[in-house]
Amino acid sequence: ATEDVKILLLENVNQTGRDVLAGQGYQVEFLKTSLPEDELIEKIRDVHVIGIRSKTKLTARVLKEARNLIVIGCFCIGTNQVDLKYAADHGIAVFNSPFSNSRSVAELVIAEIVVLARQLGDRSNEMHNGTWNKVSNKCWEIRGKTLGIIGYGHIGSQLSVLAEAMGMNVIYYDVVNLMAMGTTRQVATLEDLLGEADFVTCHVPELPETENMIGQKQFEHMKTGSYLINASRGSVVDIPALVQAMRSGKVAGAALDVYPNEPAGNGDYFTNDLNSWAADLRGLKNIILTPHIGGSTEEAQSAIGVEVSQALVKYVNEGTTQGAVNLPEVALRSLTMDQPNCARVIYIHQNIPGVLRKVNEILGDHNVDKQMTDSRDDVAYLMADISDVDTVMLKDLYERLEGLSSRIMTRILY
Ligand code: NAD
Repeated sequence: ATEDVKILLLENVNQTGRDVLAGQGYQVEFLKTSLPEDELIEKIRDVHVIGIRSKTKLTARVLKEARNLIVIGCFCIGTNQVDLKYAADHGIAVFNSPFSNSRSVAELVIAEIVVLARQLGDRSNEMHNGTWNKVSNKCWEIRGKTLGIIGYGHIGSQLSVLAEAMGMNVIYYDVVNLMAMGTTRQVATLEDLLGEADFVTCHVPELPETENMIGQKQFEHMKTGSYLINASRGSVVDIPALVQAMRSGKVAGAALDVYPNEPAGNGDYFTNDLNSWAADLRGLKNIILTPHIGGSTEEAQSAIGVEVSQALVKYVNEGTTQGAVNLPEVALRSLTMDQPNCARVIYIHQNIPGVLRKVNEILGDHNVDKQMTDSRDDVAYLMADISDVDTVMLKDLYERLEGLSSRIMTRILY
């Protein structure tokens, strides 16, 4: 029953998320901070669901103690703080919120295009230092200029709509063929994009293929006096090559929101002790340097609260794993589940030969209305809706599934 579900929320998870979970009737304990590991272990023993942000480390040592835990909600984008493999191997699903801040990033990039085109960062710095320096040389309107978007996903496509509304021509490059928004146009190669764009902006994921995707060669392909923006991942742009391209005048301005070796907390500056290129960057003109704030808005925080807590509710109540970062994605329309004498069986098991035969021998005594199964690496996830069952039958079924050697976790929802 929902009132038996115990949830621990740490690190001041957004109010919107707390409201969704409390609205389900779950027992929700809420703490403003993270916990030292020993206290965390004490608390996690008891709960079915834990919600964290980036500071709580859910290591194998901690998760080993979490005997009742079925799901982890990361109310943030990253999931590095969780031992995802250990969690998957023990049937614990992990959810995060990858897309709730896309709009915030797109808006930041729009602002940066204007700021770079008008050298606003430099003018503002000069005024802060007491200097009046009125300039129009090499300051531009953005209307009619071409924006080249590398990676046309959630952020890239949202950005293209905003940029077109400001009168820009938009082209994009992506490894996948994607539908163009408005009058934007996909180009065939990265070089095509670089040769045509006045502003180049990166919105690709961090992958081996995207590491230093913009380096010396790519800067050579860019138009003289063009601009580069990177609010994707620090690995995507080769910073020494950018410094070179800006010094030579090839690139007239840049905005960086992400860096290799980002510091863990606020306060420590990015200095030469950490990165040999830091002083070079700081010495350049017309470069906007921001501390990974692309997605940092109040709206994104509330959207994260809603998105993650709704995924947790769907997992707890229906077993749906859509959007899970460490388990196969499985869902069934929940029609029969609401009927009397019906139940949903979730069987998370090792992905080894022969399991389904044994499971279906057990399920096969009943009327299986729907069934779906999928695997990811070593773990498989089976969901079946069965009808004409009573509590005695379900208890027997549960015990038989739990008795199989492939078992990771069995859940019966009704
Ligand atoms: P997404 O997955 O929706 O889109 C990424 C797109 O890049 C996809 O269309 C994909 O096909 C394409 N792509 C992948 N590899 C490519 C390659 N080698 N060449 C060309 N295209 C390629 O991702 P998103 O949500 O739009 O996020 C984009 C980036 O922004 C990610 O790196 C994400 O981590 C980052 N991000 C940064 C902030 C911030 O605060 N600065 C906030 C959110 C997201």
